[in-house]
Amino acid sequence: MFETAIAGSLPKPAWLAETQKLWPQWKASGDELRQSKLDATLLWIKAQEDAGLDVIGDGEMSRQHFVHGFLEQVEGIDFEHKVEMGIRNDRYKALVPQVISALRLKGRVHATEARFLRAHTKKKIKFTLPGPMTIVDTVADRFYGDRVQMAMAFAALLNEEALALQADGVDIVQFDEPAFNVYMDEVNTWGIAALERAAQGLTCTTAVHICYGYGIQANIDWKKTLGDEWRQYEQILPALAKSSIDQVSLECIHSHVPPHLMALLAGKDVMVGVIDVASDQVETPEEVAETIGRALQYVPRERFIACTNCGLAPMSREVALAKIEALAKGAALARERYGAAR
Ligand SMILES: [Zn+2]
Repeated sequence: MFETAIAGSLPKPAWLAETQKLWPQWKASGDELRQSKLDATLLWIKAQEDAGLDVIGDGEMSRQHFVHGFLEQVEGIDFEHKVEMGIRNDRYKALVPQVISALRLKGRVHATEARFLRAHTKKKIKFTLPGPMTIVDTVADRFYGDRVQMAMAFAALLNEEALALQADGVDIVQFDEPAFNVYMDEVNTWGIAALERAAQGLTCTTAVHICYGYGIQANIDWKKTLGDEWRQYEQILPALAKSSIDQVSLECIHSHVPPHLMALLAGKDVMVGVIDVASDQVETPEEVAETIGRALQYVPRERFIACTNCGLAPMSREVALAKIEALAKGAALARERYGAAR
């Protein structure tokens, strides 16, 4: 009860990459970089286990960015000539690669780090991939001329990699879809269909993470424009509840999402965000347990997974570590407090 997991990313150590950046430059190259990525992965596996988390991830140490890490192994994408594009409905500008021909995987994308993760922990492991809608929103299209067609092409590639990750021993494959909170109409017309295509045939647990983004300034500014109540989830959760995806990861603590919206996910496991990623203030176990208590009004205990609101990548290492410790301690407190009865 009250299993604990992180959304996905963790801060890269200063010897691996630039710190506190969303698109950090690597500090090494070639074999040295390959080794550094695995060293950092091992460090975070140990830290997550020491904290007492139940589901362990690779912290995304091997990818520069949660979307572009996947795209680097896709044929048909021009990384040499990146263009500036407004992403997430023009919330912020990013330098993005261009799709210039039909898409195909060059080979396995995450085999090395997924097998490494499997080899170094006996706990359940989760592996994250970007969702098709979020990928489409983070590349410039010079080939397909149609968002849905391009999303389905990416979904087929994601599915190939997801099936291979399952074969590597991954227990949970999670697709990250922050774009779901931006294009709610499209989520219902094709976003969920593309997500289900990406998860097609998986017999391991499947998950989707939908958030209001990392705690970066552009997102903090955007959130100020969303009003007192953030009701985006209201438009997408009913359709997700009917989808084939097993688990949904949502923001809760310090967010303006009315918590009762989580009840729209009846029948799904819910990864409830009980750790804020937009603040360096470390939650106390008491605060985490209280947040769990409040969310229990809307999410049944047996479907409750305590999680972070989003990835911890842009934070300092010290703060991220303290936050995952608070997550595990808070969930332990909640088990004592709410374990026996509702
Ligand atoms: Zn997120």
